[in-house]
Amino acid sequence: MPSDLVIVYHRQPYEEKEEGGKVVLKENTSPNGIVPTLKSFFGAVDHGAWVAWKLADDPSNPDFEPVIEISDDYGNYSVSRLPLSAEQVREFYHVTSKEAFWPILHSFKEKYNYDRVEWPNFREVNWAFAEAAAQEAAHGALVWVHDYNLWLVPGYLRKMRPDLRISFFHHTPFPAADMFNVLPWRREIVESLLACDDVGFHIPRYAENFASVVQSLFDVKVTDRGPVPDHLFSEGTALAERRVSGALEYKGRQVTLSVAPVGVDVDFIDYRAQRIETSARVADIRADLGDRKLILSVGRTDYTKGGVQQLASFGRLLEQNSDLRGKVRLMHVSVSANKNMTVYAEIQDEIERMAGQINGRFGTLDWQPVALITRPIPFDELVAYYRAAHVAWITPLADGMNLVCKEFIASRTDDDGVLVLSEFAGAAVELHEAVITNPFSNRSMDTAILHALSMPKDERQGRMRSLRDTVRQYDIRAWGDMVRVGQDMSADSRNVTE
Ligand code: UDP
Repeated sequence: MPSDLVIVYHRQPYEEKEEGGKVVLKENTSPNGIVPTLKSFFGAVDHGAWVAWKLADDPSNPDFEPVIEISDDYGNYSVSRLPLSAEQVREFYHVTSKEAFWPILHSFKEKYNYDRVEWPNFREVNWAFAEAAAQEAAHGALVWVHDYNLWLVPGYLRKMRPDLRISFFHHTPFPAADMFNVLPWRREIVESLLACDDVGFHIPRYAENFASVVQSLFDVKVTDRGPVPDHLFSEGTALAERRVSGALEYKGRQVTLSVAPVGVDVDFIDYRAQRIETSARVADIRADLGDRKLILSVGRTDYTKGGVQQLASFGRLLEQNSDLRGKVRLMHVSVSANKNMTVYAEIQDEIERMAGQINGRFGTLDWQPVALITRPIPFDELVAYYRAAHVAWITPLADGMNLVCKEFIASRTDDDGVLVLSEFAGAAVELHEAVITNPFSNRSMDTAILHALSMPKDERQGRMRSLRDTVRQYDIRAWGDMVRVGQDMSADSRNVTE
């Protein structure tokens, strides 16, 4: 059935679970809320479609259904599942996306490896996504493509279906030209993005970097710099103004650039945080801590997340402040992913080695300074830790947004707790009342954590109240509204040539 809105996101909008020998669909319970938020857009159209990949070594297997129809609380939509072999997934996702694109997007030239990239395979997979989207889209429909592993989709789609409106959203940082242009396929990627009507980013800096990359490669005209206020997220700035919309003109077409920082589902987290079970769990964690302070760090095991720099800072903290020994505990949650990639295995080894070294050097019979956790913590348990922590120490070296820091704030219904946040997390653009630190500087890291540990209650509460206002005002629904404006979701606003 032709769809007015086609969302192209590499993951499926639900989880598949085995139940009684049958595969059943389950609501995706990812706490960061992006999938439900994206699905909620289907409510605005008669019929929507979602395009994702599915691991299928033998797509001719009669059990494989390439398109399934769903009718649920979000609306009526189909899900096209592109069958990819394990080898295609490895190539497209683990090699091209994670070894070549990811380091460049996060400005880690030294981690970048393109020797193993099979570019024709990447093109093929992106072509298949574009074909599936073209197949699902009604005349003049909006196709909304997500993230860097689908960079080539807009270009292919524009050729297949010139009638469509095409938007793209980056969930990562976007680097400056001298970094991005390391990619040998830079012109092909950027030309594809210039086939969009709108290209979206989390924060203005990424949009500005994109504009500079485009200008370094193509003859484009910047037709509108957009209303870029001095400080985009200063208090009282109206929501509409927060969407910086610059515009570029390329080959006679207009491409707008929009900015919409993603938020978290504050109502959902608030409810989780205030449940009786959560309060009981918080009391247990606090009782176990006694008079010790809990520093909480949560992230994936990825060199971009800065785990090594953080553990080094914690080691120095204990070395230089003997009064803190026995008085603080660092719970370092570093969830391992991509086990089949050497670069992640190396960083995991390094983190385990450093945690072991700190525990060996400073630990006593009744005090272990670092609790290192590498398995994912269920969200309810995580919320209990957010509430029990004295300090959340979130110091990525580069991060598109970072939702953990916003979840921590949303959980602090007691208006207490200190957030120490890297200036290189996209969220730092909004969260001014955090203790902002530079994870590349030992001095900045060490001073920030000491400041957080010794902050008086009045100051903690003042900062937390202001952080909570920001996180509530710009929650996941506000993001939905901002991108909705950017995508012109309403049928009337579509400028379709019949
Ligand atoms: N998360 C979780 N359990 C864990 C660690 C993380 O549920 O043990 C969730 C966390 O709540 C957050 C997400 O994983 O919603 C991480 O999102 P973020 O934007 O901070 O980082 P990303 O991993 O997307 O780079």
